[in-house]
Order: sequence, then structure tokens, then C-alpha cells
Amino acid sequence: MKEMKETLETLKARLAKVMDLNAAAAVLEWDQETHMPAGAAGVRALQISTIRKLAHEHLTADEIGALLDRLDPAVSDLDPASTEAALVRVTRRDYERARKLPGRLVAALAEASAHAREAWKTARETDSFATFAPHLERLVELNVEKAETLGYEEHLYDPLLDEFEPGMKTADVERVFEGLRAELVPLVHAIAERPAPDETVLHRRFDPQKQWDFGLAVIRDFGFDFERGRQDHSAHPFTTAFSVFDVRLTTRVDEHFFNPAFFGTLHEAGHGLYEQGIDPALDRTPLASGTSLGMHESQSRLWENLVGRSRPFWTYYYPHLQKTFPESLSDVEGETFFRAVNKVAPSLIRVEADEVTYNLHIMLRFELEKAMLEGRLAVADVPEAWNEKMEAYLGLRPSSDAEGALQDIHWSLGAFGYFPTYALGNLMSAQLFNQAKQDLVGLDDQIAGGTFEALLRWLRVRVHRHGRKKTATEILVDTTGAGLRADPWLAYVREKFGALYGL
Ligand code: ZN
Repeated sequence: MKEMKETLETLKARLAKVMDLNAAAAVLEWDQETHMPAGAAGVRALQISTIRKLAHEHLTADEIGALLDRLDPAVSDLDPASTEAALVRVTRRDYERARKLPGRLVAALAEASAHAREAWKTARETDSFATFAPHLERLVELNVEKAETLGYEEHLYDPLLDEFEPGMKTADVERVFEGLRAELVPLVHAIAERPAPDETVLHRRFDPQKQWDFGLAVIRDFGFDFERGRQDHSAHPFTTAFSVFDVRLTTRVDEHFFNPAFFGTLHEAGHGLYEQGIDPALDRTPLASGTSLGMHESQSRLWENLVGRSRPFWTYYYPHLQKTFPESLSDVEGETFFRAVNKVAPSLIRVEADEVTYNLHIMLRFELEKAMLEGRLAVADVPEAWNEKMEAYLGLRPSSDAEGALQDIHWSLGAFGYFPTYALGNLMSAQLFNQAKQDLVGLDDQIAGGTFEALLRWLRVRVHRHGRKKTATEILVDTTGAGLRADPWLAYVREKFGALYGL
């Protein structure tokens, strides 16, 4: 027992070093997107790469393997839910994954994606898929090699998905998506036939500083802790955590469109609240982060959409917003504004999609990338396959590849298996929120009073504090009694948008 404790302390000390190095690299990456002068881009990439390599070396050192081998039998007697057992389990997972991938393959992927990213930019600007195609082919090849190297039982896509959504299987995602698509496609078509709400009010002038301050005031009400976090500007909003004690949000402001800064701030704050809510005792261990991208996205979507686009929310905040922007909103009724921020309309671009159509954009990408990896779809045929699916799901056909298969950066980064986590997050958000509504009496009234304490406390206990001690599926099962399901989300959109669109 005493020996196990000592071995565990030795392992934790080594892992703390890995965590510190990764945090240092993350600070440099955050700075790169927020404050760094453009001239530093070249040297910064080298600095980050040096630190990440060091972290990788420390994590994959033989000594870590030896410590894990000694700890495995010792922790097998412990409760699997204990921090000790979880630490050994999660470290083993990270260690094995990192050791399995040969340096040659990691370097080949990094190099191929560096070239692919440049080619993708040019291809998008010139609307020439052919410019990007050979790079995409190479990345597909390398990802197949990566999947084969990591190994799988059922599906080539499993080990790629597992990187972002530990424990989730391709077959599970396919099953959930199939049920979802069957219900969602007709719903979207029905909404598209109804008159669209007027959203011009959102495109009036909104003073950038006031937008910034208003967003911050709302996330302060949510419970975001500015003693342990801050928000800065960036071209593409993101959240990064250097520690439970230091969580960074970024957002962008458009003077003539209310949505990006406001809903972007709520979205990123949802990610940030998750990171701030992790048990501080787990800090500087591999357990101190969100458990999966899907669960992370569930938290951002919950605050952005289920709270931030809800009627109770705007009952409370709209009068405040009107006071903040009297010249733009004094003549706009609350109901008009509420309908505007909940406008649903099929569109070509994923990042501009509303909360109802968004999942269809994701399913399309999931199906295509799976088909490419399995060799069922040649890269050259991707644009046509993309356009056909767009037409089937959303009733729209892109007039160029720039607004079709070339719109996202993800594939150029070599990230396959990432896309589905966006839709998983949407589904999880509704599954969790549905349970919160049952557990917390009067939650709507609290939100309509600008009070979020009970909701945040519930999320802390059910989701946040565990960090990576529980998988997303374990959190869902323990909290809602079931693994991932699409029906709570479907029930939510049917009720809300059925009422809004008179279906
Ligand atoms: Zn997000």
C-alpha cells in the first residue's frame, strides 16, 4: 500500500511535468491567435513544436510504462471510480496511443497537413478543388495508416473517432445519426416552407465595446470566474485552458451583426465553465480536462442554445439589451427579437447554420469522410457527393466548391473523426438539460430571473468536476439512465420550433 502510494506520487510528478509543458505550449498558441505580431509566425511555430515534442518525450518515456506496469495490479483492487484508478487508466490510454504511433507517421502527418493547409487556402480562394485534392488524398492515406497502426476490431473509423470521443464506437454514432436524420430532414423541409422571421434587427448597428461588455456581464451571471479566466479577441473564437485556475475565452465582434459576439461569448463560456468546474485536486494531471469533444460541445451548446436562445432567458435579458442599445432596439418588440435569434433556414455554410439544421451539416461530413477512408469514395468525387447530400438533406445545391466541399479547415489539418463530435455535443446537451429540468424544480423561472446558480451547481456535480475520470457515456448513463440518445434533442427542437413556426 505504502509502495503503491510512492509509485503513484512518482508517476504524478512525471505527469505534472508533461502537463506543465503542454500548458506552456498552449499559452504560446493562445498568444499566437490573440496578441502575437504577424512577423513572429515562423519562429512561434518552432517554439511550440519544440515544447510539444518535449512533452511527448516525457509522456512516452519507458519510465512511465514501468510505473504503469507496477501500478496496474495495485489499482485493480481499488474502486474504478477512484481518482487513483482513473489516473492510471487514463494515463495508460494516453501512453499506449502515443507510443503506438511511430515518429515517422506523426511527422508525415504534420508535414502533409502543413502543405494541405496552404493548398486548401489557395483552393478556397480560387474555387479549385483540384488544387486541394492531391493533399486530401495524401491525408486520407495517412489517416488510414494511422487507424491501422492504432488498431480496431469493428471499424476503421473507430480509432480515429476514439481520439476525440473516447469509448464511442462508429456503429453507435451511425445508429443514433440514422434515427436522427429520418426525423430531422422532414422537419427542416417543413420549417423551410413556413415564412421566415425577420432578422434584419440583428444587423443594425451595435457598438462593439457595448457588445463586449454585455456578453461579459451575462457570462458573469452564468458563473464564469474572472479571477480564473479572461476573454480576448481572436479571428476564430476558441477556448483554451492552461489549468483549472486559468481558462481563456476568445471571441470576435461584428459591429453590424449581433449574433457572432454574443452567442460566441456564451458558447465559449460554456466550454470555459466546464474547464473551471473540474475538481482542482485533479489539476496538473491528465484527468484535468473535459472528457471528450462531444461532452465539451454539449456544455457550450447548452449555454448558447438551450439557455441563451430560450424564451425565459430573453424575458430577463431583453429589457437590459434594449437599454444597452436604445438607438437600435427601442422600437423592437421582445417577441420579434426572440424570433430573430431563433431563425431556422437551410444554408450552405456550416459555421453559419442554426441549431436545427446544424446536425445535418455534420452528418454529411461524417458520411463522406468515412466513405473516403473506407475507399468507397474517391477524393475527386467528393464535391459531387457533397452537393448531392446537401440537396437531399437541406434542399440546397452549392454553386461553387468554396461554399461546398472546400468550406471547412478540418480535413486540411488531417483531423478525421472530429466532425461527429459537434453533433454528439448537440444531442448530449439536450439529454443533459432535459434531466436538469426534471431534477431542478422551477429551472425556467430561475432563468427568467437571471439566476443560474442551481443549474451550474448541477452541471458541476454531474459533469464538470469529474474531468476525465468518467467517459462521456458514463456521465450520460449515471446522469440520465441511458447512453447517447437523439430523442431528447428531437423533442426539444420539435416543441420549440414547432411553436415558433406553427407546425
Ligand atoms: Zn465549441
